[in-house]
Amino acid sequence: MFPRLKVAVYLDGCFWHGCPEHHSVSKTNAQFWATKVANNRARDEDTNQRLEEAGWTVIRVWEHEDPAVAAAEIKAVVEKAKRHRPKNR
Ligand SMILES: [Zn+2]
Repeated sequence: MFPRLKVAVYLDGCFWHGCPEHHSVSKTNAQFWATKVANNRARDEDTNQRLEEAGWTVIRVWEHEDPAVAAAEIKAVVEKAKRHRPKNR
C-alpha cells in the first residue's frame, strides 16, 4: 500500500480468487467452493470500485505472477502516481 499516493496493491491467491489459469474446480463440495470463490470475486470487484471512486489506483497481482514483473508494474504505477500528485501538499 502507498497511502500518500493512493495506490493499493493486492496479492490474490489463485485458488481463493478464482485465477483464470489455476483455479480448478474442486470435486468435493463443488457448489460450496464455487460459491465461496464467486463471493470473493464479487468482494474484490466491490473493493476495486470503492477505491477507484475514492481516487485510488488498484493493482491486483496473482500469486502465480513473476514477482519481478509484478514489482516492475507496481513501480511504474507508483512513479506515475508521484508525477500526478499535487505538489502543494
Ligand atoms: Zn494463477
